[in-house]
Amino acid sequence: MSDECLFCKIAAGEIPANVVYEDDDVVVFEEINPQAPHHLVVIPREHIATLNDLEPRHEALFGKLATTATKLAAERGFDSAGFRLVVNCNSAGGQTVFHIHMHLLGGRSLTWPPG
Ligand code: AMP
Ligand code: ZN
Repeated sequence: MSDECLFCKIAAGEIPANVVYEDDDVVVFEEINPQAPHHLVVIPREHIATLNDLEPRHEALFGKLATTATKLAAERGFDSAGFRLVVNCNSAGGQTVFHIHMHLLGGRSLTWPPG
């Protein structure tokens, strides 16, 4: 846990969020500024700042972010229609919170390329 990290504080329950799923490894909560009808943020409990900080020991945990997201897409009924998982990295990638996270966006047709 990083003392100054917003998402560590959400994972620890120190800052409120609309948590929709959690287990020993991951926490999922509603995005505060949703960009689609369904927009969830999927984080590991472990503080990993960016994609650049992933190590081989994180491979299963990072995979679990994706499988957790896809389960939630199925539960919410937009898996077949399609959805998007996004991980932003550093400033050119649009990252604003430096605790690695996967955005799950669904419920509308998403355009490509992104902005
Ligand atoms: P990124 O820009 O990829 O780093 O994504 C960080 C996301 O976290 C942004 O889309 C923010 O809107 C979102 N966010 C920031 N604070 C909160 C919060 N307290 N609860 C939910 N989402 C948040
Ligand atoms: Zn953190």
